[in-house]
Amino acid sequence: MQVPAQFDYERATGVRHAIALLTRYGPESRLVAGGHSLIPMMKLRIANPETLIDINDLDELTGISITDGALRIGAMVRHAELLDSPLAVEHFPILVDAERVIADPVVRNRGTIGGSLCQADPSEDLSAAFTALHAVAVIEGESGRREVPAREFHTGPYQTVVGDAEILVEVRVPIRTGSGSAYEKVERRVGDWAVAAGGAALWLDGDTVGEVGIGLTAVGAAHFCAPQAEDFLRGGPATEERFAEAGRIAAEHVRPTADQRGPEDYKRHLAGELTTRALRRAAARARGSEA
Ligand SMILES: Cc1cc2nc3c(=O)[nH]c(=O)nc-3n(C[C@H](O)[C@H](O)[C@H](O)COP(=O)(O)OP(=O)(O)OC[C@H]3O[C@@H](n4cnc5c(N)ncnc54)[C@H](O)[C@@H]3O)c2cc1C
Repeated sequence: MQVPAQFDYERATGVRHAIALLTRYGPESRLVAGGHSLIPMMKLRIANPETLIDINDLDELTGISITDGALRIGAMVRHAELLDSPLAVEHFPILVDAERVIADPVVRNRGTIGGSLCQADPSEDLSAAFTALHAVAVIEGESGRREVPAREFHTGPYQTVVGDAEILVEVRVPIRTGSGSAYEKVERRVGDWAVAAGGAALWLDGDTVGEVGIGLTAVGAAHFCAPQAEDFLRGGPATEERFAEAGRIAAEHVRPTADQRGPEDYKRHLAGELTTRALRRAAARARGSEA
């Protein structure tokens, strides 16, 4: 089936208007951003919204900036814009690493950061990257704005904490000194979804790990994170041996499932190996020995 079911269409003029439309049309309405996830699902009749609310005119949701000591990324920022962002390169190269391996230029030119996070695909790359960065999602509804840590944003596959009449407005990543971050992905071919991928962010205090974040995707990591490996690293020396052990711990706690992209044990192995590689590169970047 290549044709969506019939639906009504509204074009929101602002965030408050989008929320009012979501409230008016109820749970059978859906926001559409880049449409790269939603429209294929509608064509397959997996999603059958009665009303589409287009948020492409919402300037409030665009732009990447530094605001109040944090990198602020609007929900309507396209993948291509994040990939080319000098601020992302400077502060959080993990985001650029991840964007480089998300889909292809056609998808990246249209798909948005907000759409990616809200789609909540269990193999989605930015969810792991933002989890590693301890990012915060800003969600707006009728009663105002609330902030949710990235690692509490997803409640399960294709499910998030964003309510029926709410909209993800932006993602914020606090900027702190001594940071380095990196993302590592194994895919079957260029532009494909991950067989497995892992991201790491380190905040070094000399040679000690002051804070750490590890995000994993496509391997059944609860909330895309590896808290046991983070706990092991936090407060200890940032050494190769400990990065290897953190990888082993991360692999122990994931719950991958076998599919066309690989068997369970291979994905578990990748979860560990990619965690270690990402930590190694994150540390090199924090020390200024790798760009
Ligand atoms: C061929 C192909 C390959 C891909 N490969 C990858 C890959 O390798 N890695 C990867 O991570 N992703 C991949 N993707 C996914 C792609 O990144 C996402 O489909 C896309 O970016 C989703 O964003 P969108 O703006 O198109 O969302 P849409 O399709 O417009 O929306 C997706 C969902 O999010 C909701 N939504 C959108 N914006 C908001 C908001 N601001 N607030 C609340 N809800 C919102 C919509 O209602 C909908 O339910 C691929 C997609 C395609 C088509």
